Amino acid sequence: MTRMELEERIAAVRKALAEASEGRYPVPKLIAVTKTHSPEEILPLRELGIEEIGENRVQELKEKLPALENIFQIHLIGRLQRNKVRQVIRDVCMIQSVDSLPLAEEIHRRALAAERAMPVLVEISPAGEAQKGGVPPEELRGFLRALAPLEGISVRGLMAVMPDTRDEEWLDRLFGETRQLFDRLREEGIPGIRMEELSMGMSGDYRLAARHGATMVRVGSAIFGPRA
Ligand SMILES: *Cc1c(COP(=O)(O)O)cnc(C)c1O
Repeated sequence: MTRMELEERIAAVRKALAEASEGRYPVPKLIAVTKTHSPEEILPLRELGIEEIGENRVQELKEKLPALENIFQIHLIGRLQRNKVRQVIRDVCMIQSVDSLPLAEEIHRRALAAERAMPVLVEISPAGEAQKGGVPPEELRGFLRALAPLEGISVRGLMAVMPDTRDEEWLDRLFGETRQLFDRLREEGIPGIRMEELSMGMSGDYRLAARHGATMVRVGSAIFGPRA
């Protein structure tokens, strides 16, 4: 892809985000999902105003890290195995996909050893698709209360992956319900838990996500083109 194409695609995403959120919510932050792409493809994003990127695999992240680490802030957005936490604890600005207590406790331990508190989002499963991971909405409060005392992690909000569907009405409802849940938790105020970020929306549905008050969207193929 040429630099011009990349610039046009990012401009188109930003414009659509601004239009979709207009009048209701602040424009969400655009996280460019760079998985499967090489540093050579990723580096030009920096000059196009992208400061934060998302990667979903630890090994790939470690391979690309030397080329990217002082240029972008990196979010870990995918499933994370407990035995890989140690490898990324110094490298990422946020772990977006915390959905179990053992994983949270491992992040807490490794972060303390690295003398930091890791910002995390709690992944929820808006449609209750258990096989995809994510905490079911009815278990969320208890989970958040269990995370609150862990000084090695700093909960900043929620992350959601929507079902892969063309049913726009269903998606619209799920995004709306997810934002309502986020707002309710924020109003309730769980001590030790910050509810500032709501990460939802990918290439296929980032407009809907922006309309329903996502604070960050994770967009890959709408920027880089479809994955092979
Ligand atoms: C790959 C991925 C994305 C981006 O997907 P696109 O459809 O390419 O925009 C967002 N979030 C997560 C968790 C992902 O794994």
